[in-house]
Amino acid sequence: MKLPDFDYHSPTSLEEAITLMATPNARVLAGGQSLLPIMAFRLAAPSALVDLRKIKGLNQIEITQDAIHLGPMVRWRDVERHEGLATALPMLTQAMEHVAHYQIRNRGTVGGSLAHADPAAEFPGIAVTCDARIHLASASGQRVLAATDLFVGPLETCLQEGEIITSIEFAVWPKARRWAFEEFSQRRGDFALAGIAVFYDLDGGNHAQNTHIGVIGATDRPRRLPDAEAALNGHVVSEKVIAQACAAASAEVDPPNDIHGSAAYRRSLVGTLLQRALVKASR
Ligand SMILES: Cc1cc2nc3c(=O)[nH]c(=O)nc-3n(C[C@H](O)[C@H](O)[C@H](O)COP(=O)(O)OP(=O)(O)OC[C@H]3O[C@@H](n4cnc5c(N)ncnc54)[C@H](O)[C@@H]3O)c2cc1C
Repeated sequence: MKLPDFDYHSPTSLEEAITLMATPNARVLAGGQSLLPIMAFRLAAPSALVDLRKIKGLNQIEITQDAIHLGPMVRWRDVERHEGLATALPMLTQAMEHVAHYQIRNRGTVGGSLAHADPAAEFPGIAVTCDARIHLASASGQRVLAATDLFVGPLETCLQEGEIITSIEFAVWPKARRWAFEEFSQRRGDFALAGIAVFYDLDGGNHAQNTHIGVIGATDRPRRLPDAEAALNGHVVSEKVIAQACAAASAEVDPPNDIHGSAAYRRSLVGTLLQRALVKASR
């Protein structure tokens, strides 16, 4: 199907892109993996596309002692192959194994994934679980959002018209952190029916603390599971504690019923995935 008419811009600086994005109904073009199909189906008809590809620095991965900064044009394959990320934020590298197929991983970007806000997408789930900070810029200025505040519902964010994601910031992980990422999809590379990201730290008495558990696919947006986190915090991660956390996780999700699975199935899957993740993390 032919795309609707639009103006195409290929700025070479962020300032130029911000100015162009002030055009009513302009949209950023990243890798085009979601935007172009949506336009082909006439679900979006932007007046202009502002392609970020030629802006230097937006595809950089920068790791300092405390923080990781991903430019919005970092692609899945860049994340996959980056050696520093595998130690600074290992969960992100591992989750990449589940993202789509290699053709899409060559083009899909971290910024595009956040702005597209698919509830089953891995990167938004990792961003929420890890308390990432999202840096935004527009003609009205700059702001920083907690990842959890970016997502409003399925395919919906609180990005304002003209706003561009300019960077995604994560804290560097301590080496001894316990973590795992588990998901289930019908075929390799498909979107997840459900997925779980979990990490925690251990205190001197082997008690879990600072537990973060995030879910994708089984809720209207990626989100943390506070009841399941509370079931772990302050406890030695035993079989009994894991069972309590899994029961809490299944109870606190409100999954959709759709052609891929019933709500009851997804609810049960969340508990199973968390159980697998916690067993893996505790080894
Ligand atoms: C067949 C298929 C299977 C897939 N499977 C998976 C999967 O298993 N897991 C997964 O996580 N993803 C999956 N994806 C999604 C894919 O990996 C990309 O993350 C997603 O399509 C976004 O693509 P993009 O980066 O090319 O952004 P685009 O398609 O270019 O843009 C997407 C949206 O984000 C906006 N946008 C892009 N960049 C910015 C920015 N910097 N600031 C503000 N707005 C911005 C655009 O305006 C548009 O609204 C799949 C996609 C396809 C086509």
